[in-house]
Amino acid sequence: MPHAIAGFPPQLYQTRSRQVALRDRLTREFDMVARKISEHRGTGNSGLISIAKTGQEVIDRTSVLITDKFVEVRFFVGLPASGRRILGERAAQMLCDDLPKIVDCALKYGNLDSKAIGRHVETAEDADWLRSQLTSRGLVAFVADGAILPRRSGVDPRPLAADAISFKSPDSLRVEFNCPNRGTITGMGIPVGITLIVGGGYHGKSTLLRAIELGVYNHVPGDGREFVVTNSAAVKIRAEDGRSVAGVDISPFINHLPQSRQTTNFSTTNASGSTSQAANIIEALEAGAGVLLVDEDTAATNFMIRDRRMQALIAKDKEPITPFIDKVGQLSRDAGVSTIMVMGGSGDYFDVADTAIAMENFQPQEVTAQAKAIAREYATSRTAEGGKSFGKITARVPLSESLDPSRGNKSVKLKVRDVDGVVFGNENIDLSAVEQIVEVGQLRAIAEAMVYAKEKYLDGKHTVAQMLDGTIADISKGGLDVLTRFPQGDLAEFRRFELAAAINRLRTLEVKS
Ligand code: ADP
Ligand code: MG
Repeated sequence: MPHAIAGFPPQLYQTRSRQVALRDRLTREFDMVARKISEHRGTGNSGLISIAKTGQEVIDRTSVLITDKFVEVRFFVGLPASGRRILGERAAQMLCDDLPKIVDCALKYGNLDSKAIGRHVETAEDADWLRSQLTSRGLVAFVADGAILPRRSGVDPRPLAADAISFKSPDSLRVEFNCPNRGTITGMGIPVGITLIVGGGYHGKSTLLRAIELGVYNHVPGDGREFVVTNSAAVKIRAEDGRSVAGVDISPFINHLPQSRQTTNFSTTNASGSTSQAANIIEALEAGAGVLLVDEDTAATNFMIRDRRMQALIAKDKEPITPFIDKVGQLSRDAGVSTIMVMGGSGDYFDVADTAIAMENFQPQEVTAQAKAIAREYATSRTAEGGKSFGKITARVPLSESLDPSRGNKSVKLKVRDVDGVVFGNENIDLSAVEQIVEVGQLRAIAEAMVYAKEKYLDGKHTVAQMLDGTIADISKGGLDVLTRFPQGDLAEFRRFELAAAINRLRTLEVKS
């Protein structure tokens, strides 16, 4: 649709933030109208006009593109069928009546709610701006006063409607920003370093951390988390027993395993809770993570803590694990990697925390001074086990042959049904534990990016980090379309960390030794 007809004022798409948001909004408009108009005219997908699925996040997708000449929309049409027969007349109605109606309602500025579109674009721009300010203010995350963090249910990501208690920053952590569009905004700044979120069970700790995890993305107006923003290099870490691991140097955390298994080059088809969590951390660091997010609900206890009594019973030379408590400070000091963790069950962490936030009745309070006083009064008498420094992150070089997207006589076979995984050739990659993937379109793009990265970068020389750098740079330059031979309408933006996560979970993956 040429701009002369679509009629969007250029200031709605002149900056990248605005353009991504406008395209996101138009995808949603198209979806809404298409749903209304396209009643089933046959069986299954037939008779359906549909566009890429959206959730609460505002992200870059290939469903709507805006060039300097036109607005381009990519969508699906299921021709109406009866059994194996196309119903020609109804197909003509769909294409000649319904489609022009949808285009008319969804893609002409004059027919849209200009206020709502303005708000959509400005909200995303403010959120991007806030995120860009975090580092210079010494912060890794910001949670605005008034934010609504809880969701409707475990399977419904829309905001909890009734009974939601809105977020209010403790005075001691309150910071203020002056956003380009909405002006002054205040909220809780989480500083660089080690932050503990403590508090009783069911008081909102995990809900806060979840909002921070998703703060790497922008959210639609009305989500409640529009102004919860997090450093874009923040990666959720959890235990994930059963996953495969290929040649990861987990020696900063784990040494002398039984049967003298190597941990500088650790491979397994069935990781334990602690080894999987160690691998998840090292792989995140290898991919360039700047902030780690950990929730005790999904962490391996023996990876997180080892108290004085256990140190006395099980000598260090009988315990392969150096617990996270002895490494988290080194990570922050040596590598500049911050950690935000929910830890309601162990006060041992008071010694290493820079900031402590207590959740009480879904409201945060800063309790750093109390936690430090308690740490002085009740010394844990633990022996630190972490050594002098964190240890090194050994770069890995993946072998190209070990990423094989072929199946039978097809050279590339990819399949994605939901956000839980990808079929890559003959392999199923389980991504159900990769919690910062929010849309199925991200997985489609990640699957394509794996094929792309293999062809372009895996030559027995490029490291994982270099492959990620190259692939992500190509996408920033040419858009998601660089990933596929033909234009697709269902790809969504992903981060380097999630691409790395998919490759790392491919069970055939091998690295140069
Ligand atoms: P914790 O991790 O401290 O045990 P959760 O974060 O899992 O607690 O929250 C427990 C319950 O409270 C969840 O059902 C969650 O949706 C709800 N909840 C969290 N924050 C709020 C809030 N601000 N207002 C209302 N309900 C909330
Ligand atoms: Mg919890």
